[in-house]
Amino acid sequence: MNLQITLGQLAEATGGKLVKGKPEAPFSVFVTDTRKLKAGDFFWALKGASYDAHDFLAKTLPLAVGGWLVREDALAALKELPPAVVAVKDTLKALQALAAWHRRRFEIPLTAITGSNGKSTTKEMLRSIFSAEGETCVNPGNLNNQFGLPLSLLELTAAHKFGVFELGASRRGDIREIGEVARPTCGIITNVGPSHLEYFGDLEAVFDTKTEIADCLAPGGILVYNYDDKYLSRLNGRKFSKLTFGRDPEADVRILEGKRLKVEYDGVLLEINLPHAGGHNYYNAAAAIAAAIAAKLSFAAIRKGLENYTPPPMRLQELNIGGATVILDAYNANPQSMASALKEMGDKPRPLYLMLGDMKELGQHSAHYHTDLGAALAHMGAKKVFLAGPEMKAAAAAYCRAGGDSMEYGETLDDWLPEARALISAGAGSFLIKASRSLKFERIVEGLTINP
Ligand code: ADP
Repeated sequence: MNLQITLGQLAEATGGKLVKGKPEAPFSVFVTDTRKLKAGDFFWALKGASYDAHDFLAKTLPLAVGGWLVREDALAALKELPPAVVAVKDTLKALQALAAWHRRRFEIPLTAITGSNGKSTTKEMLRSIFSAEGETCVNPGNLNNQFGLPLSLLELTAAHKFGVFELGASRRGDIREIGEVARPTCGIITNVGPSHLEYFGDLEAVFDTKTEIADCLAPGGILVYNYDDKYLSRLNGRKFSKLTFGRDPEADVRILEGKRLKVEYDGVLLEINLPHAGGHNYYNAAAAIAAAIAAKLSFAAIRKGLENYTPPPMRLQELNIGGATVILDAYNANPQSMASALKEMGDKPRPLYLMLGDMKELGQHSAHYHTDLGAALAHMGAKKVFLAGPEMKAAAAAYCRAGGDSMEYGETLDDWLPEARALISAGAGSFLIKASRSLKFERIVEGLTINP
């Protein structure tokens, strides 16, 4: 972070008051974690789910902090102040306001990505495309929420020629809140699916939330969305600047059948050797292509960028372990990404083994989705199905009811972990490993020798 502004500008941008310090004093960077504070640092106090940093303010003074940004009602209780203090009504809103103000200092193509699945993959694809053309600011890891997105935007500097930011959401209004901060010149909606249903309630709420991005675009901004998506296709009739992607002949960036990724745009055919194949990665790539077209990049640059992209780990990652084909998709799981990963196994070598764990955060819909999955698994021609986790119990029961006869269920992964590892080590066939993040299914392959 290198904001190069003044304390006066900080107060103005955050709608706060400079309680102490000179308005012309320089301000470039701040820290939000007391454990990372060093002498002279400026501390921005935030209230999280478990802690309120205002409770630790007094403790930061012996570290000789350079200043504070604090909630105004917390000031009265503080006897001693650092050399600079800005007081605001709400320190998270102030962070978002500063990020919004800072973002508007730069006239660059800025892409924001939302959707139920594929955000990180699409982000990495765009990072690869844009980085070859100029310095690109991308939010690190999953800094994509109410707090992480503004922090990521504050990393923008004059050196950046492009910005790519992922927007996370789990409730109505989430995308609007951070989308307005980001003001993207291009907003991507990858798809609408049953992820985080526990918080959203239903798919209608997911659709409403993801499409909030359409109202947050910068003037002249373009919306990129999946034309084939059952929910997003409702946007087809709406009047705004858009570029769609999908297999439908009406999609602007049209994915054509074939082993290699082939898309057609405006009558031009573009063929790409995508390093990470897979049906849904074609969609992610088509979304990235549309966003790159919106940023006026050439097809040559788009092809070069996509062919050089490094897939993020644990998303349909294909590993060769002693002759076994292992598809490690243990980054996360929800019904949409589960169906998509199972489809990927269709043309993999036989025998087929499925090692699947809970799809979390489905709330009241959990039993229904796990039951559907279990019934489907019985007809996939798998030599053996391994299921683990409390939610998967419903899948195991449905599997048996549907006539499946080769399945092992465990309350936890440890119940069948040794057997799974032994089967993979034996080196025959294909293995899909997939579960929600908290189950840490990557443990199945930990320590096994992966061939290059
Ligand atoms: P996100 O950032 O939205 O969570 P990721 O790119 O990290 O998405 O991928 C998370 C999971 O979703 C992985 O299991 C991946 O294989 C799957 N996935 C990625 N893109 C798609 C897509 N377009 N449709 C369905 N599943 C997808």
